[in-house]
Amino acid sequence: MAVRAIRCGVRYAIIGGGIVGLATAYRLVTTRPEARVTVLEKESGWGAHQTGHNSGVIHAGVYYKPGSMKATLCKAGSRSMVEFCREYGIPVEVCGKLIVATDPAELPRLHALHERALANGLPVALLEPEKAREIEPAVACVAALHVESTGIVDFGQVCARLAALVADGGGELRTGTRVDSIATSGDEIVIGTTGGEVRADVLINCAGLHADRLARLAGIRPPARIVPFRGEYYELVPARRDLVRGLIYPVPDPQFPFLGVHLTRMIDGSVHAGPNAVLALAREGYRWRTVRARDTLDALTYSGLWRLGRRHWKYGLGEVRRSLSKRRFAESLARLVPELTVDDIVPAGAGVRAQAVAPSGDLVDDFLIVTEGRQVHVLNAPSPAATSSLEIAKHIAALVDA
Ligand SMILES: Cc1cc2nc3c(=O)[nH]c(=O)nc-3n(C[C@H](O)[C@H](O)[C@H](O)COP(=O)(O)OP(=O)(O)OC[C@H]3O[C@@H](n4cnc5c(N)ncnc54)[C@H](O)[C@@H]3O)c2cc1C
Repeated sequence: MAVRAIRCGVRYAIIGGGIVGLATAYRLVTTRPEARVTVLEKESGWGAHQTGHNSGVIHAGVYYKPGSMKATLCKAGSRSMVEFCREYGIPVEVCGKLIVATDPAELPRLHALHERALANGLPVALLEPEKAREIEPAVACVAALHVESTGIVDFGQVCARLAALVADGGGELRTGTRVDSIATSGDEIVIGTTGGEVRADVLINCAGLHADRLARLAGIRPPARIVPFRGEYYELVPARRDLVRGLIYPVPDPQFPFLGVHLTRMIDGSVHAGPNAVLALAREGYRWRTVRARDTLDALTYSGLWRLGRRHWKYGLGEVRRSLSKRRFAESLARLVPELTVDDIVPAGAGVRAQAVAPSGDLVDDFLIVTEGRQVHVLNAPSPAATSSLEIAKHIAALVDA
């Protein structure tokens, strides 16, 4: 969406110490010697929510609409993320991935993805099953799309390095500091936190799962609401890890930005399976039993969620059933790698996606960044925002250019 440049002072307060907030702080301290940057994070460490609970994939940018922010920032971000990791000695691997059609009915969607990847300028190739099996010997498919530039990394390690670089650059990093109020006083923004008041000239809201609430605290009416969708993982038992060399994905349903349960080799050598997508009953609800009344009410009283539910209840129900049944989960994986059985996987935690849903019931497809006066609010930064974070940071810094 169009955003207008705003004038800014020199004190920047960034809410949220996930990868987007930290990358933005890093960008500001490295490009503006005059900047006084403070990062406010409610948890005791960095990347405690989405960033610390994701698949660790540096996406190439296949799926996104050409010309969208996701497409352009992901493609550039995948490069800058790999370069950043190499520069700072963070383990990273560009291992490529296979998107596999397991049924002839999926071929038109696979071909459409191929076209889209080409339109996005990515190095991709359509493969016959034999060629696909040269890359992933255990895979079953009728055709596959090989994406060369996909990589893997631990985004938690990226956050730790970004935080160290921000500190080296003179930034102030405050963990255990929750933002509870935002007011303006003359030219200043006054931020009330559990650690006292912080005064700033520019406010940058990168609060992930809480970004819409923080925007409302700041007097903005966000055009969409964050709905938390949990993604649950299993992992392969060590003895079966050799069934997967890199990344194996199904052809996604074009109506959903969630990519379907897939197999991902992590940078530590383990192989994760998932994530699915179920409505979380708390914004930080990593299990079914974590229920927060305010969050559940917030979601259930939102007309946008009901509209979404009415349209896609069958898909949602399928996801819930798979969440409750390890056997169903294993069956989804066996479509990609038939040798995998229910005994080959063990639970491996979950992450919660901050997905903005419009009042119309549409999932907000692109990144959504809104400016108002001296405030910037990142209101939709789901996947591939970790991949794109260094580029999102550049984009935000350009918005607050004098
Ligand atoms: C299951 C899953 C898998 C994913 N896989 C991938 C992938 O493979 N590749 C990829 O590129 N992306 C992936 N993503 C998306 C990616 O993780 C996110 O896009 C990215 O981490 C968003 O970063 P963020 O900084 O905006 O949010 P977050 O990491 O959630 O950070 C927001 C921070 O704000 C803090 N905060 C919130 N409210 C307040 C407050 N009031 N005061 C102070 N601090 C506050 C939170 O504690 C949190 O640390 C995945 C996401 C999930 C959930």
